[in-house]
Amino acid sequence: MLELKNIRKSYGNLDVLRGVNLRVDDGEIVALLGPSGAGKTTLLQIAGTLDKPDSGDVLYDGIDPMKLSDRKLAEFRGSNIGFIFQFHELLPEFTALENVAVPGLIARRKRKEVFANAEKLLRDLGLGERLHHKPTELSGGEKQRVAIARSLINNPRLILADEPTGSLDSHNRDEILSLISGLSRERKQSFLIVTHDPTLTEIADRTIHIDDGKVVESGEEEIPLA
Ligand code: ADP
Repeated sequence: MLELKNIRKSYGNLDVLRGVNLRVDDGEIVALLGPSGAGKTTLLQIAGTLDKPDSGDVLYDGIDPMKLSDRKLAEFRGSNIGFIFQFHELLPEFTALENVAVPGLIARRKRKEVFANAEKLLRDLGLGERLHHKPTELSGGEKQRVAIARSLINNPRLILADEPTGSLDSHNRDEILSLISGLSRERKQSFLIVTHDPTLTEIADRTIHIDDGKVVESGEEEIPLA
């Protein structure tokens, strides 16, 4: 469903992405592993149509959404792509329920429906007792689960996650991982997860590595002949 073709991106004379090719199929969990500074966030922003590559194509079902008008692009993004960030980025003055509802309200869906759906998602994620808590009243793992619920509110086909377990202890990390893996199975949603945490490969259908501005599939590394 998502295909990146020969993506290049530089900042000044820093060549961050040097011809990246990447594919995510329907219902697939792809882990993109690489050290800090390798360009993972840059690639995710480009895949999510939040940033433009210098060259190369970002295709969703063969169509380049960057060619849409700004308004149409925002609509496309809102209904097809969910985002999970490392530091959850919840709005501090809103409750868990309101935070989850925000992308649904922005997509101008019916308020009542959005809130009912937000509540269901939070209950499904084990946060039924935390609906009206604000982010400061939630633990790290709970905040990350709220962020996951928020990424799902518009039922996107693809969820892009940037270090979703980065700020969590091992117990919470395991919970978030089994949550993601369950969602992909039950709701047939695709995930592209960028991380430097190798344990994420446990739930991935495919692992790829980014290094030196290029990506390599696991098991496809070039084997020196000599
Ligand atoms: P990662 O997510 O793998 O840690 P990033 O994609 O955040 O890597 O960054 C890759 C490189 O690009 C880093 O060296 C970073 O400093 C640089 N970089 C990222 N965004 C910008 C920007 N807006 N302007 C200049 N340099 C940037």
